[in-house]
Amino acid sequence: MNKGLLRKLPKIDELLLNEEVNKNIEEYGRNLVLDTLRESIDAVRKQILNGEIEDFQLEEVVSLYKSLLNRKLRPHLTKVINGAGIVIHTNLGRSLLCEDAVKAVEMVSKSYNNLEYDLEKGARGSRYSHIEDLLKKITGAEGALVVNNNAAAVMLVLNTLCENKEAIVSRGQLVEIGGSFRIPEVMKFSRAELVEVGTTNRTHLYDYENNITENTGVLLKVHTSNFKVLGFTEEVPLEELVELGHKNSIPVIEDIGSGVLVDLSKYGFIYEPTVQHSIKKGADVVTFSGDKMLGGPQAGIIVGKKEYIEKIKKNQITRALRIDKMTLAALEATLRCYLDEEEAIKKVPTLNMMLKPSEEIKRDADRLRRKLQNASKAFTFKVGEDRSMVGGGSMPTETMGTYVVKVTSSKYSDKEIENYLRGYETPIIVRVYNGEVLIDVRTLQKGDDSVIASAFKNMGEE
Ligand SMILES: *Cc1c(COP(=O)(O)O)cnc(C)c1O
Repeated sequence: MNKGLLRKLPKIDELLLNEEVNKNIEEYGRNLVLDTLRESIDAVRKQILNGEIEDFQLEEVVSLYKSLLNRKLRPHLTKVINGAGIVIHTNLGRSLLCEDAVKAVEMVSKSYNNLEYDLEKGARGSRYSHIEDLLKKITGAEGALVVNNNAAAVMLVLNTLCENKEAIVSRGQLVEIGGSFRIPEVMKFSRAELVEVGTTNRTHLYDYENNITENTGVLLKVHTSNFKVLGFTEEVPLEELVELGHKNSIPVIEDIGSGVLVDLSKYGFIYEPTVQHSIKKGADVVTFSGDKMLGGPQAGIIVGKKEYIEKIKKNQITRALRIDKMTLAALEATLRCYLDEEEAIKKVPTLNMMLKPSEEIKRDADRLRRKLQNASKAFTFKVGEDRSMVGGGSMPTETMGTYVVKVTSSKYSDKEIENYLRGYETPIIVRVYNGEVLIDVRTLQKGDDSVIASAFKNMGEE
């Protein structure tokens, strides 16, 4: 251990002579600045004690202080750049809202509005009225309701239609999503009793039929969003389940998870049943997320037959799951895009990124590569082909051809580059594969290229 080095550690007073530190005190207050100075001195002391450094300069302590302070001043929930190429990245906030939705959120946040006021009657209105007609029009359903998220939607529907009754579900559909949503657990909370039928890979219509009793509340179909059962498999098609349910006067509920409103198979994706399809095939109630493939805010959307929707609306627990005005505003604006499919594809970022033409991605990648190489010579940047993913537990087997900028360096390891980018003032999230850092341009937004360029420039100069 280097005692001389420990003695070289600056005192707070010494750092307080720094002009910038003084300015910080005026702007952000003495306590915050002093705490941060202490932390940066402590951090250097620790490095000395651990024998990690041989020497240091005063400027390095100040620069450490600056970066610690910046981190403290930044809101904890902050912007990051998605260079990972996963469009609906659950850890990075899932879907981005379209411009119209952002404007709508701003409008309802800054001004009073008719959230629960009927402007025609001059009397109290319902918050759900703003989107019910839109959802009916788009999906073809008789009624609609929106709650906080799809997990809440499933729970509410089961609690309303199946409390103390049995819900028959195929064993192949008892999914867990993101570790926090498990169909069996949700059913427990809703007080519906789970009756598992069939096997993991095959469930037949007779499996449902043989298990129908006087106490059956619903037949439940769950979309296996985030996994695929391949090989020797069989699932009962919705229309057969509907026929069986209706013969026995039992409603059929479908949790379709992602909630696609546009048939993406015409754009080269595998066919995912749309909400419209489920309604057309006779599902009594369908639930789905607002922030997965729909590309709106976090929400759980419930559509279906009027008699069931009315019952669900009257459930007391609906009050505890209700969505706020900002979500409602964003959802209405997003849904409006879907009145015209072309419009939706143009305006909704999630669809837009999924369907981005290959030439456009290539052009963006070439442009980014040039910009980065001009910013720093400490790295080598190359454009290569790769695959992006949809994410959000949607289309798990589907990948999209993309172009990435591959970063290597003789000076830094892949891990070091990844860490630096993640710790940058605007954190940049990338993929690391085979010793290379990959930046997928599919999910980059306007202006991100300049931030990434300055990150590499700064890193290269350190
Ligand atoms: C994602 C998903 C859920 C949970 O939806 P949230 O909106 O995240 O609550 C439920 N069921 C299925 C099938 C899903 O894919």
